Amino acid sequence: AILSDQIAAGEVVERPASVVKELVENAIDAGSTKIDILLEEAGLKSIRIIDDGSGIEPDDVETAFKRHATSKISSREDLFKVATLGFRGEALPSIASIADVTMITSNGSDVGSEIHFRGGDLIAKENAEVRAGTDIVVTDLFFNTPARLKYLKTPQTELAKITDIVNRLSLSFPNIRFSLQHDGKELLRTSGRGDLLQVISNIYGVSNARKMVKISNSNVDFQIDGFVSLPEYTRANRNYISILINGRYVRDFQISKAIVEGYGSKLMVGRYPVAVLNIKMDPILVDVNVHPTKQEVRVSEIQSLNNLISETVFEELSGKNL
Ligand code: ADP
Ligand code: MG
Repeated sequence: AILSDQIAAGEVVERPASVVKELVENAIDAGSTKIDILLEEAGLKSIRIIDDGSGIEPDDVETAFKRHATSKISSREDLFKVATLGFRGEALPSIASIADVTMITSNGSDVGSEIHFRGGDLIAKENAEVRAGTDIVVTDLFFNTPARLKYLKTPQTELAKITDIVNRLSLSFPNIRFSLQHDGKELLRTSGRGDLLQVISNIYGVSNARKMVKISNSNVDFQIDGFVSLPEYTRANRNYISILINGRYVRDFQISKAIVEGYGSKLMVGRYPVAVLNIKMDPILVDVNVHPTKQEVRVSEIQSLNNLISETVFEELSGKNL
């Protein structure tokens, strides 16, 4: 195994949910319209992701597992306007260094490839049938990093973390048909018809979806669109807020707070809504290269954004009969 890959894995792959996140993001970046996620034992036994995306050409498959091999950005300028979810070229080598990974991939015309890594070592590479997309299976996660394995929580907690990330990705991409299966049981299925409200309904239930208010506004720098629930019905916590910046799911305490403020000031309560907020801005205003997992970002003009959000949430809710 290559030591630097294992060190990067320490940052990128904390738990099974990190593997799911990275692999599903790769499937999204590959232009997939359908992504199936199949888990066994909360991902500890196996994680399988099947997509119908672009696939990888035979000549590029081995390279894709090399550190900093990314097909997604090619210049320093690109780094400031990252449009894909991945760009660091770290996920595949990191995962392959701490697990057993088999990928079957094809771009739909050339002969396909099947490649097998274990603990960072290339075990086998051979031709495979032509298919449209990629099928990747990860087993024996953390088999060679026992400390990581010990640090994991209960299977229920690990599964909850996976569900959380798949939910957010489904909310971010209503045009993609997602399915999530655990030990043969279906946990989520979305239609891929591009209807955000329907995805909200798939995740939070029909009754919550019925109580959503549409949010839409813009100022000179930002455009915001999404849904916020009417307060009286929900028993949500902070986790029910999803924030997407230029299509990328992020965690941002300040933006969450702006939503809650717009919401709470109307009712003088501090309860949380179910909320999904899509924020669009010039990529130059946001730095996504803050942390390897890319969930933290830095936004310029954050105060102007937060004012827009809390005012819009407040006004849209005021317009409803509460
Ligand atoms: P990054 O996503 O940051 O580029 P990764 O290590 O996650 O780095 O992936 C390396 C490369 O492998 C990607 O740039 C892409 O070209 C290719 N790749 C990985 N997964 C897929 C997939 N499911 N479909 C098509 N190409 C893929
Ligand atoms: Mg990636």
